[in-house]
Formats: sequence, structure tokens, C-alpha cells
Amino acid sequence: MSELSLAYIFQHQQLLVDDQFQLPKVEKLAGDLSFQSGDQVIARDLYIEESIPEGYQLVPIRQLISQWTKSQFEQASRALQLLEWRRNHKFCSHCGTETQVHPTEYAMVCPACRYHQYPRLQPCIITVITRGEDEILLAKNAKNKGDMYGLIAGFVEVGETLEQAVQRETLEEVGIHIDNIQYLSSQPWPFPSNLMIAFKAEYVSGDIVLQEDEISDAQFFKFDQLPQIPFAGSIAHAMIQHVIHASKMPT
Ligand SMILES: [Zn+2]
Repeated sequence: MSELSLAYIFQHQQLLVDDQFQLPKVEKLAGDLSFQSGDQVIARDLYIEESIPEGYQLVPIRQLISQWTKSQFEQASRALQLLEWRRNHKFCSHCGTETQVHPTEYAMVCPACRYHQYPRLQPCIITVITRGEDEILLAKNAKNKGDMYGLIAGFVEVGETLEQAVQRETLEEVGIHIDNIQYLSSQPWPFPSNLMIAFKAEYVSGDIVLQEDEISDAQFFKFDQLPQIPFAGSIAHAMIQHVIHASKMPT
């Protein structure tokens, strides 16, 4: 029997772990994604007929943010995104021929026209906005049924700089003008394949006007009177802590 590999085994956005949130060790199968040098770490989707081993369970990957270290979560999120990308690029987007997995790179290669499809990221800006010395803008997503208030965020559009995306999203979602846009940090976010790029900015002018299909409420909150905010481990949480307590952003 060959040496066992540590395995990221997914079903949709759930990952197979034991009750200590540790990964299983399995035999590598043809078609598994080799995830690090050699075959010591692999990733694959749970096969339809495959049963869940005793002592293991499928846990939503979001839940693992609070159980795991940042680098453990990033590895799992990388595995999830690579599998998703491979699943969605079975055919050449140029000529429609079935693709083949590149032997050494993360690329799906067309045997007919040689077009290479690589994993793609979607850049997404997220912005923490302050007013004066002690106020922060927090917004409630219209899709979020709970009471959590988060930050302004959105996808970068084609032809736009990151700073323009920050200004546009802020104006669209809450109707205010901002300035002093400064880069803070970034975080890969595998839902589905985003790179969250974090900025801070200062309020300049305008009254809050909600984009109602996206935002159900937005207000400037005093630093010592915050509503419920995003959970620890998310970049939004780190950004809010950063502006309020001057804590260091994760890198
Ligand atoms: Zn092709």
C-alpha cells in the first residue's frame, strides 16, 4: 500500500474533518489534485457513492475560519478554489474541445488549439470609512437577515483602478464622497474566488442615501457604540479593529 496523503475532501463548500477539525489521510486516486510538491497533500470532491468515514463530518468551510489558523484556512480555501476552477474548465472556452490537466502547472490545456486556462481571481474591494476621530460607517447588507453590520464592498470593474472602485462602490451603496484612500491588506476569500483588497478612507461630504436593493441600513457609529460586526477571522473584522484600536492588519 502506498503512503497516505493528507486530503482536502469537499462536498460543495463543506470540508471533511474529524471532531478535532483535522483532515483525513487517504490513498491518492487518479484525478486527485496534487496540492503541494509530491503527493503528500491532495484535494478532491467527495465521490457520490463514497461514504463519510466514521468519526468524520462535513463542516462548512466558513466555520473553519474560527477553528483554524489563518494559514490553515488559506490552504483549504486554495484547495476549494482550485477544485472549483478545474470543475468549471473541463472544456476549452476558445474551441470547445475537452481539456486536459497540465502535468506540472495549475492549467487546463486544450489538446486541439493549445489554449491554456488558468485559475482566475475576482478582485473585490472592501472599505472602512471613518468620519472625524471617532465614527465609523457600517452598513447592513439587504440579503443579510440578521443584525450584523459590515463594510462597503464590491467587485472591481473592467478598466477601473482599485481606488476608483472604492469611490464608485461607496457612492453607489451609500451616496457619500470619500478621500484619503489607503491600502491596508488583502485576503483570499473562496466564495467563490475573490481576492478581498482592503482600504481605509475618510468621509468628505454627502448624506447617506441607500442603494436599497443592496443595503438595508447604513449609519456612522461612534467607536464605543458599535452594532454587531463581522466575525473574527474575516478581513472586515480586522479592518474595524484597525481603525478603532490601531491594531495591526494581518498580512
Ligand atoms: Zn481549444
